[in-house]
Amino acid sequence: MLKRYLLAPGPTPVPAEVLLSMAMPMIHHRSPDFLPILEAAKKGLQWLFQTKNDVLIICSTGTGGMVGSVNNFFNPGDKVVVVNGGKFGERWTKICQAYGLTVEEIVVDWGYSIKPSAVEAALKKDPSIKGVFVQATETSTGVYHDIEGLAKVVKNYPETLFIVDAISALVAQDIKTDEWGIDVMIGGSQKGLMLPPGLAFVSVSEKAWKRNETSKMPRFYFNFKKERENLAKNQTNFTSAVTLIIGLNEAINMLRKEGLENIFKRHATLAHATREAVKAIGCGIYSKESPSNSVTAIEAPQGIDGQQIYKNLREKYGITGAGGQDKAKGKIFRLAHLGYADTFDVITGIAAIEMVLKDLGYPVKLGTGVAVAQEILMK
Ligand SMILES: *Cc1c(COP(=O)(O)O)cnc(C)c1O
Repeated sequence: MLKRYLLAPGPTPVPAEVLLSMAMPMIHHRSPDFLPILEAAKKGLQWLFQTKNDVLIICSTGTGGMVGSVNNFFNPGDKVVVVNGGKFGERWTKICQAYGLTVEEIVVDWGYSIKPSAVEAALKKDPSIKGVFVQATETSTGVYHDIEGLAKVVKNYPETLFIVDAISALVAQDIKTDEWGIDVMIGGSQKGLMLPPGLAFVSVSEKAWKRNETSKMPRFYFNFKKERENLAKNQTNFTSAVTLIIGLNEAINMLRKEGLENIFKRHATLAHATREAVKAIGCGIYSKESPSNSVTAIEAPQGIDGQQIYKNLREKYGITGAGGQDKAKGKIFRLAHLGYADTFDVITGIAAIEMVLKDLGYPVKLGTGVAVAQEILMK
């Protein structure tokens, strides 16, 4: 038998409480049984998103929320800025282009974070730019972008919406949606929210709703205005993902008991312990700036293939992390500490990395990284 551990940046482990809550018999999504459930989910998401605005609940993966954020607020030909610092930044560009937007990319070297001044320069040059798209955490490089700094810049441009893919950052990073002035922010169920894949969440500011009135793109399934009207009645436009929404309420209950401040502290500590432990083993951190609290991108030691580390972790020790994508493939492997994650997820992951590296002939004294992680996690 090989016991499996899921330490990937999505899907993430689902707590037993959440799994059990989703084992109840089906109820009808337009019936009085379900309406209070949706109302609780709506309020819970506002708490988690730190917003008074509507947070739409969409039955799709996170990317569906991204697509909806492009085709509900823009018109073909609109000029937008995309911060592209990895695979998910690239996805913003592809979605925007698929819907006929004119994209000005600000390319950020992989492993680095965007300088808000670069976005400011683009907006100064052309204040008619209709939107700025960014990832909060760029999952492919393990970098957290300076969302607060970017929000401060974009806020000064009345024509410009600030759109944040926080799918892998939500829960792990303290993102103050209303206080900072984020217009559209997207979350996904299978990352920090400790749920299976299948739900996207999208918060929408009044500035964005105003824009929605003039946006003429073709849309049917992802129609945010219709979702908003339904949400006011504690419903969704189409059949609600009843089971996942029941699970969402259970997950939010667990998070509420912990409290936002403790949740962010837990993730920061787990990320810090992971980084210090792998450094003690002799691995570099791929994120040269602003490493995220959700996932750590770890450089494979000289002469060792990152994909081999990822593969051996999985096949020999049952630990599913993630490899590198695209140009980081082979150079790195990734370990998440996101959502239902605690001390012994990190210690297990670090112990397994030591064992795999030793297997692959790398000179590591077993327990080196583990001890470093233990010291940090005991405090
Ligand atoms: C996981 C992820 C997504 C969404 O992926 P889906 O497979 O559509 O759920 C988008 N952006 C980031 C940054 C992610 O980590």
